[in-house]
Amino acid sequence: MSNAEFTPTPNFIKAIIANDLETNKYGGRVHTRFPPEPNGYLHIGHAKSICLNFGLALEFKGRCNLRFDDTNPSKEDVEYVESIKTDVRWLGFDWEDREYYASDYFPQLYEFALRLIRKGKAYVDDLSAEKIREYRGTLTEPGKESPYRNRSPEENLALFERMRSGEFPDGSRVLRAKIDMASPNLNLRDPVMYRILHAEHHRTGNAWCIYPMYDFAHGQCDSIEGITHSICTLEFEDHRPFYDWVLDNLPVPCHPQQIEFARLNLNYTVMSKRKLLELVDKAYVRGWDDPRLPTLAGLRRRGFTPEAIRAFAETVGVAKRESMVDMALLEHCLREDLNRRAQRVMAVLRPLKVVITNYPEGRVEEMDAENNPEDPGAGTRKLPFSREIFIEQDDFREDPPRKFFRLSPGREIRLKHAYYIRCDEVVKDAQGRIVELRCSYDPESRGGGTRDNRKVQGTSHWVSVAHAVNAEVRLYDKLLSVPDAAAEKEEKDFKEYLNPGSLEILKGCKVEPSLAAAGPGRFFQFLRQGYFCVDADSTPEKPVFNRSVTLRDSWAKIEKAQQDK
Ligand code: ATP
Ligand code: MG
Repeated sequence: MSNAEFTPTPNFIKAIIANDLETNKYGGRVHTRFPPEPNGYLHIGHAKSICLNFGLALEFKGRCNLRFDDTNPSKEDVEYVESIKTDVRWLGFDWEDREYYASDYFPQLYEFALRLIRKGKAYVDDLSAEKIREYRGTLTEPGKESPYRNRSPEENLALFERMRSGEFPDGSRVLRAKIDMASPNLNLRDPVMYRILHAEHHRTGNAWCIYPMYDFAHGQCDSIEGITHSICTLEFEDHRPFYDWVLDNLPVPCHPQQIEFARLNLNYTVMSKRKLLELVDKAYVRGWDDPRLPTLAGLRRRGFTPEAIRAFAETVGVAKRESMVDMALLEHCLREDLNRRAQRVMAVLRPLKVVITNYPEGRVEEMDAENNPEDPGAGTRKLPFSREIFIEQDDFREDPPRKFFRLSPGREIRLKHAYYIRCDEVVKDAQGRIVELRCSYDPESRGGGTRDNRKVQGTSHWVSVAHAVNAEVRLYDKLLSVPDAAAEKEEKDFKEYLNPGSLEILKGCKVEPSLAAAGPGRFFQFLRQGYFCVDADSTPEKPVFNRSVTLRDSWAKIEKAQQDK
């Protein structure tokens, strides 16, 4: 597998790296890592981090590791490890043989902790979690020292060893760094380095009952792997002094540089793994790959391509300031990609039967249809046309408003790739619902030409009744009904903002015969309806399609409005 191609755009992290290369700070090396915690599936925010870390390695001819930050056994699982690998690979990135786990370093981290204890820089604290929090102080008040802070290194070593050997229950003791309880940075007020947790780890089993805290482990893992630039999100900015403190106080092979950037926020959705897990666990959605979720598995099932997601990551760029990105931009990136690549086909989502009364019974004509006007190399295919066809219910109005250019009694429309038809009669059932139209066609109008050059404004897509394939089509809308649930009323749970109309399932759709054989993952443009992909539930007997995006590009509109200002 090859690594993805990138068109580089400048950003502040690249400027730092370029400068480090110039000053030979790391001997000309650039080595990054993507460090997911295997406690959930990856989402589009992680994709930004993946594209950034792997992208930097590609651009600067360096390397990028995949490191599982698996220091919290209670929430982690192999299912997540596997899904993460699948997703990173799917995005187009390759970590080669550099698949690492923080848990692989547990022995080394333990040694580091012993060393800090011996140096008098770490101690075992018997305070409860609650007391530790209380003693920590606030932003305006200094913290208080724990009564256990001045234990001798010997006593600490003995206690820490007993913590390790399983003598104490969960939460009864912790190992803390001995730094400064009065520091203006709360992260330096003797942060916890190790806690007791009698839990089975998905890789180390029951070998350990003490687990290192992320802040203690992360810098050491980076250093062991020879990382040069440790890129993380802004909330870790205040943790950087501790990251550096640990590295400065240990005989580590190198001292990587932590650089923070603003995480991706997307409107109308949720991105925290905790919330995503809740939606999955409580069955608000069908699973981690529900096409409404911003998980990579969900986006993939929805029909997003890795190319579109990489383009999106490149377009949003990296900055130091938090912002909210419009979902319309993500959709825009998909349209740009699929517009070039998707085969155009005809599918009628809400069918209305049309009988062409002057078309010979039993006749079938093969109409030539181009596969993609954006790509002449895509060729053409044959579409069967016959006396009975389906058109879209919305393409007919008995009582057309002004500016309605489709079919109505006495009016004509063009059938794409076929003939003009005129509506002569509307057939209704006993309840007065329209069940069928009786139309006549103009035999001279095949392929769009007529003898008298009359103008027909509307063009409709259609499918021949005898040849149509029955299909299920799933239409998606925003997951949340508000752009930013966090900005809404605080007492309300984010689930109260779930959009009840986020999924609409249409069962009686009629699609052109060529679609029966399309396997899961294939994507198409259904003329006038949007881009669709074949869902994993699809079978040749019962094809299922997901709408990935509509054709309406609201992002292009937003951009144009800004330019016009
Ligand atoms: P969440 O906050 O969504 O639960 P997390 O930050 O706990 O996610 P990790 O598995 O620790 O998830 O993330 C792995 C990497 O991805 C980290 O380097 C993290 O900074 C980055 N990352 C996570 N969310 C985003 C985001 N929204 N935008 C950019 N990078 C992100
Ligand atoms: Mg995290």
